[in-house]
Amino acid sequence: MENTDFKDIAEKLSRPLQVLITTHTNPDGDAIGASMALSFYLTKKNHSVHVMAPDPFPDFLAWMPGIDDILIFANNKSECIKAIENADLIIAADFNNLGRLNDAAILVRQSKAVKVLIDHHLFASDEFDFKISISRISSTSELVYNFIEEMGDIQLLDRNIAECIYTGIITDTGSLSYSCNYVRTYIIIAELVRLGVDGEHLHRLIYDTYSESRLRLLGYSISERLIVLPEYYTAFITLSQADLLKFNHRIGDTEDVVNYALSVKDINLAALFMERDGIVKVSFRSKGNFSVDSFAREHFNGGGHRNAAGANCDGTLEDTVLKFRQILPLYQSKLKSVYS
Ligand code: 5GP
Ligand code: MN
Repeated sequence: MENTDFKDIAEKLSRPLQVLITTHTNPDGDAIGASMALSFYLTKKNHSVHVMAPDPFPDFLAWMPGIDDILIFANNKSECIKAIENADLIIAADFNNLGRLNDAAILVRQSKAVKVLIDHHLFASDEFDFKISISRISSTSELVYNFIEEMGDIQLLDRNIAECIYTGIITDTGSLSYSCNYVRTYIIIAELVRLGVDGEHLHRLIYDTYSESRLRLLGYSISERLIVLPEYYTAFITLSQADLLKFNHRIGDTEDVVNYALSVKDINLAALFMERDGIVKVSFRSKGNFSVDSFAREHFNGGGHRNAAGANCDGTLEDTVLKFRQILPLYQSKLKSVYS
């Protein structure tokens, strides 16, 4: 399916609607930023808007404007079901297939509402009526800025919307350290600052929020659980349920752990394996042209972006790590030359 003309979406939104904005499981800064920015914008356009996430957001986003109004499916099923049933239009923000709504997926699939995708992941599924899917863009939040502009509503941007979009761009680019080579991203950031965003302050709110146990978990992950395989240009970290329990793990605590494995010189593939509630949650990161999206898709039934992807695997932590180690030799030459 081709990307939808913005005009067709504008037409759909030309009368007040019940809108439900949904985002993916384990929502991150971009998921929440894009959803809340859209929510503020569509509310200004006289729509009645709800935002729903499958599970809770991490603590480091708790300061975000409007975040307490987000309906969490895992905590409040009845309100979420009501919002799904009442919706005329459902927007999927920052994910590309409804399966990533977990238990809410079936209800959204069954809904008669018009379904709109706004996303920047590769390979969007075809279960949407309208689609804006642009994978080269830094973040869904940047896409939301473009959406508002294309709708002819740039004058509706305000500081709340700007802070949400800024958070999405900054968290999805590692503070402008990857997916950050388009001039347009910086032009938008300049506009957001003009609208009142205090970048230094937001950076502190987002990143300087470690609890003591989170910092110790990071230290432990690196000193005790990091395995470096120079011959495969790979480093990975494994955390068992017991490890997480020991450090009083909370959602979001391991968000950036995998990046430390990738920061080792000449390491081009990094992975984090985490045992959580009977499944193994895997995060992959890569440098250059090594696609962890393809890697995760092919071997772990996951996906994401070229340089950041994830998967949820059944089976034990040991089996998942063993499988990973057994696959690596197939990629040795690709992993050697990720910049050629
Ligand atoms: P993270 O490692 O931070 O959880 O996820 C990195 C990227 O991969 C994010 O863009 C996320 O949306 C995507 N991702 C994470 N887990 C999964 C998964 O199980 N399936 C798919 N298709 N994408 C995932
Ligand atoms: Mn994103």
